[in-house]
Amino acid sequence: MRISNIKVVDDTENIVACVGDENTGAHPRVYLNIKDEDGSIECYYCGKTFVYKSKIEKKKNV
Ligand SMILES: [Zn+2]
Repeated sequence: MRISNIKVVDDTENIVACVGDENTGAHPRVYLNIKDEDGSIECYYCGKTFVYKSKIEKKKNV
């Protein structure tokens, strides 16, 4: 079973940097551009998914 690796980011951050982490291993620094319509982006190196805070809150519907 694949562990989903999600990082919540602020809605104002449309570019996030990823260098991997201790779980997935380090990789060269990449910059990922989050599109407003998607609200999330998956790192193509390590599979970490960056999700806008507002998207998470909508999913939980609290
Ligand atoms: Zn990554």
